[in-house]
Amino acid sequence: MWINGGWLKTAKTIERTSPAHGAPLARFAEGGEGEVGAAVAAARAAFDNRSIWSGIPGSERAKAITRWLELIVRDTDRLATIEAEEVGKPIRFAKGETEWAIELGRYAAALAYQIPGDLVNNIGDANLGLVSREPRGVIGMITPWNFPLVTLFQKLPFALAAGCTVVIKPSELTAGTTLEVAALAREAGIPDGVINVVTGSGRTVGEALTGHPGVDMISFTGSTVVGKRIAQRCAEQMKRVGLELGGKAANIVFADADIDSAIDGIAFGYILNQGEECVQGTRLLIEESIADDFIRQLVERSRKIRIGLPDDEQADVGALIHEQHMEKVLGYIRTGVEQGAKLEIGGERLTGDGLGKGYFVAPTIFSGVTPEMTIFREEIFGPVLAVTTFKTVEEAIRLANDTNYGLGNGVWTKDIDKAIQVSRELKSGTVYVNTFLETSVQMPFGGFKDSGLGRENGMDGLLEFTEVKSTFIKLGKRGYALPHTV
Ligand code: NDP
Repeated sequence: MWINGGWLKTAKTIERTSPAHGAPLARFAEGGEGEVGAAVAAARAAFDNRSIWSGIPGSERAKAITRWLELIVRDTDRLATIEAEEVGKPIRFAKGETEWAIELGRYAAALAYQIPGDLVNNIGDANLGLVSREPRGVIGMITPWNFPLVTLFQKLPFALAAGCTVVIKPSELTAGTTLEVAALAREAGIPDGVINVVTGSGRTVGEALTGHPGVDMISFTGSTVVGKRIAQRCAEQMKRVGLELGGKAANIVFADADIDSAIDGIAFGYILNQGEECVQGTRLLIEESIADDFIRQLVERSRKIRIGLPDDEQADVGALIHEQHMEKVLGYIRTGVEQGAKLEIGGERLTGDGLGKGYFVAPTIFSGVTPEMTIFREEIFGPVLAVTTFKTVEEAIRLANDTNYGLGNGVWTKDIDKAIQVSRELKSGTVYVNTFLETSVQMPFGGFKDSGLGRENGMDGLLEFTEVKSTFIKLGKRGYALPHTV
């Protein structure tokens, strides 16, 4: 663990097994309530001492964050290797994600220069109003295993830029890169106590962090079930909360779409990160008149997807996070078959070509899926696509919105009027038109409905880590005379 600028060991440890090789990979300290208490105390002290972080000029925080990012750039290969091995994902994706995390950090650092405020000057001559943004305080960050660095960097540099201090609880499965970047912060001169990491399980460390009265906000990425529990617990203490939760994105493909790019986007959208992705395009809604041909081409495209070990530079898809999760995904596939969907491709565990010791599932497509089926409704978090047809625009919108989730949706058509009108009616935080899983540091990211609360990235992402303060200033009677001018 990393607390107050130093390593902390515990007698109890957590073993991590490689999802791709099935062999022991890492051992992490197993923290508990005591370690959470120590980390929160360190973060609180660092926050309350305004002269070291929360009260210094934003430009100074920006410079410190930038020095830290330079060290992360230096260590990109090492971080990407850890990430690829821990998650089981192909190395080229882990590298790309590390670079993306750095880009998020650079953007957040720049925002530290320009945290907005307002001056209200029309509330009477005897009054002046200041509307200022203050750092929220100590932030508890709880992150998942699917994109350990990216999910962290959608939070951490933004909170730091705002002037907050943090205690992070990474997933017990993938704590490696979080610990590494925390230690690099010290090398970069970020004061001790500003970033702390407590490793351990959600049941102990996560619960202790959520319930700790010294934490001002919890920023969480993970499942909707845990997100709802965290929201309830935070409500008891009126603790602020940001939740980035699950999804069940639909891609709507109209007959007038550019079919080649739609095939590419949909194939990419359902297999990225082995389908362990909250905005995964797990439902394909396709206009009936083109459905048969489109599915045939998509199946052909899926045959070319390369599944491989983390060090396979050409691999598109890696291993699922652990055996239990693989069994859950295979269970959803069995349910799809039992409920009458047609299995077009995949559907099984892959064990050939050196994959036998890992948890690999073949890219899987079901057609003939109806809205009552489990694979249409639930977040599977594996490389499984459910295909449903529609006849009218209204039916497409109704099907896309027929879910408790609302993170992302895609629309594919060459008719710009239709694209914009459909986008307006989709109940999700992001809509992609003729593209999918596009991302930008400037664009806010977050969900409607069960997909979460609040936004990450963009200026909105930074403002989540601030509180608004209104200051009324009463001005005295004008007690001076204007100088006479001749
Ligand atoms: P969880 O939501 O359980 O885990 C996410 C993080 O929350 C982990 O760090 C976990 O700790 C922690 N956590 C678990 N329980 C609590 C708690 N009671 N209080 C505070 N923190 C807690 O997701 P899983 O990893 O178990 O994955 C289950 C399913 O969630 C997936 O199959 C997928 O459907 C969805 N999911 C969605 C993600 C997204 O990006 N939206 C990301 C990950 C999962 P730990 O695991 O270390 O015990």
